[in-house]
Amino acid sequence: MKNIAVIGAGTMGNGIAHTFAQFGYKVQLIDISEASLKRGMDTITKNLDRMVAKEKITEEDKQNTLDNLYTTTSIAKGVEYAGLVVEAATENVDLKLNIFKSLDAATKPEVILASNTSSISITKIAAATSRPDKVIGMHFMNPVPIMKLVEIIRGYSTSDEVTNNIMELSKKLGKVPV
Ligand code: NAD
Repeated sequence: MKNIAVIGAGTMGNGIAHTFAQFGYKVQLIDISEASLKRGMDTITKNLDRMVAKEKITEEDKQNTLDNLYTTTSIAKGVEYAGLVVEAATENVDLKLNIFKSLDAATKPEVILASNTSSISITKIAAATSRPDKVIGMHFMNPVPIMKLVEIIRGYSTSDEVTNNIMELSKKLGKVPV
């Protein structure tokens, strides 16, 4: 799983995209407008600059991270090669159900669909798809590149395999999944 798509370039989405890209994953960051994508990328660049200034990463690390990031306003294009999609769009239930319907249609059946939702039932979101066993909550904390905790939330039908896969993936990002 080397290709990740992130839906939403806001506070959480740009942090999630930054983190995956910093750990070597190719990331497609998807939002509804070019302006939102630009804001997201500007934030990522600023946060990387701060990490370089604090000597947490090198200038080369920063460049490699930026080179791993791609942006698009098209869900279909953004998820084309993704093995995992992490949804971090605005916290609105109807919006998320629609996004998951679109993701279900646009991705191969084996692709894992995760949501960063803080309050919406993963079981409900999963029911909008034809693969509820592959839908899971991946609740990162703000600011994502810094905070270690990731809450992994199973829906009613989330499989053990998908849960273990996402727990292991979180560890590869230097996170502590619970
Ligand atoms: P935000 O408002 O900063 O960003 C949301 C982004 O989603 C915006 O850029 C918006 O344009 C985009 N968006 C809206 N509809 C879209 C669509 N159809 N397709 C693609 N992009 C779309 O919100 P946020 O604070 O980043 O929160 C995102 C999610 O993360 C929410 O589910 C929230 O509950 C969760 N969360 C937030 C925090 C936090 O501290 N902010 C912490 C943990 C989890």
